Amino acid sequence: MKILIINAGSSSLKYQFMESEGGQVFAKGLCERIGIDGRLTHKVPGREDVKQEIPMPTHNEAIQAVLDIMVDPAKGVIASTDEIAAVGHRVLHGGMAFTQSCIIDDACIEAIKKCIPLGPLHNPANLMGIEACQKIMPKTPQVAVFDTAFHMTMPPKAYIYAIPYEYYEKDDVRRYGFHGTSHRYVSARAIDMLGNPEHSKVICCHLGNGSSLSAVVDGKCADTTMGLGPLAGFPMGTRSGDVDATILEYLMGRYGYDIKEMLNILNKKSGVLGISGVSSDFRDLDDAAAKGNERAQLALDKFIYEVKKFIGAYASAMGGVDAIVFTAGIGENSVEMREQICQGLEYLGAKMDTEKNKVRGKETDVSADGSKVKIFVIPTNEELMIAMDTAALCGK
Ligand code: AMP
Repeated sequence: MKILIINAGSSSLKYQFMESEGGQVFAKGLCERIGIDGRLTHKVPGREDVKQEIPMPTHNEAIQAVLDIMVDPAKGVIASTDEIAAVGHRVLHGGMAFTQSCIIDDACIEAIKKCIPLGPLHNPANLMGIEACQKIMPKTPQVAVFDTAFHMTMPPKAYIYAIPYEYYEKDDVRRYGFHGTSHRYVSARAIDMLGNPEHSKVICCHLGNGSSLSAVVDGKCADTTMGLGPLAGFPMGTRSGDVDATILEYLMGRYGYDIKEMLNILNKKSGVLGISGVSSDFRDLDDAAAKGNERAQLALDKFIYEVKKFIGAYASAMGGVDAIVFTAGIGENSVEMREQICQGLEYLGAKMDTEKNKVRGKETDVSADGSKVKIFVIPTNEELMIAMDTAALCGK
């Protein structure tokens, strides 16, 4: 089934048009500067990229531009938009309402709206993408796939925060977790690579600009590092990860920040960027550290240390581990980062083959012969998961 996948942000919109069975990608691209002026980048495998400036006052014009280029005789890949069997939308926060993907109808839209307070930056943008598609292609079925849904199997002891219980009961305050579609995809691939045993314990390390770990028992999420929002866990590109809440009061008092300014610092100026003062990109940090920049090295050391700590915590929480998976920008591409994270994990039974580990962006078993715990590099494929869910819900 040919599926159009939409990931709408507040001023951008990524799309991918693909086959849900087998995952062949026909075209993909990006609309940028929506609401400002409008720019479209359209990519078709084997052809030169197309870049166009198209006015995009709202997401409606962006979706229209995507459909127009898809049917363009020279630049497109289909004869008519009727060839788009369904649309799958990435939605950030499904709150407690969504434990799995669902067909978009009025009730679904209302439920996504109710989750806006939990995902105030992303859910409104996701809704703009959905509403634009409904307007422009009203007969095409649409599906919402949530970043939080995979984590909804966590047991209460993993998702509850140790604050007054009424905030959970009345206000839905709990751990939700994100990157769920990625964790679902790579954990399923890992279980397949383990030979589909009846029972399995997998730790997934999604290490990108945003990063999270998950503990997956028998294919179901048992714990994850992100929380009510994507700020929690270990340090990321620009996000702090977990911090002592006392720091907020202390800094707000000293500098007169309000909570918005404080959260902006924790979201945009912290993480490895905050420690290093160099960059949020790990390639820049590697270069700077190699030239002797001590704070760049400290940022890398902190990241590695915290990932290692969570691996130990999850192995302990699950009572063992069968596979550790690396995915996303850093996890798929950084040979050094994977090697350093796995250094010293031999006590767990996880031994890496450093030669096999010299791989980028390719599904590979990089564990040493005889390693009790498998170490896998698995490129994530959230789009394929969204396409498969969409096809399954839309009938075929
Ligand atoms: P993602 O958010 O999954 O797209 O990951 C993006 C991040 O991956 C970038 O910010 C880089 O820090 C990191 N990255 C990509 N390629 C490499 C590489 N070869 N070595 C180290 N880090 C990389």
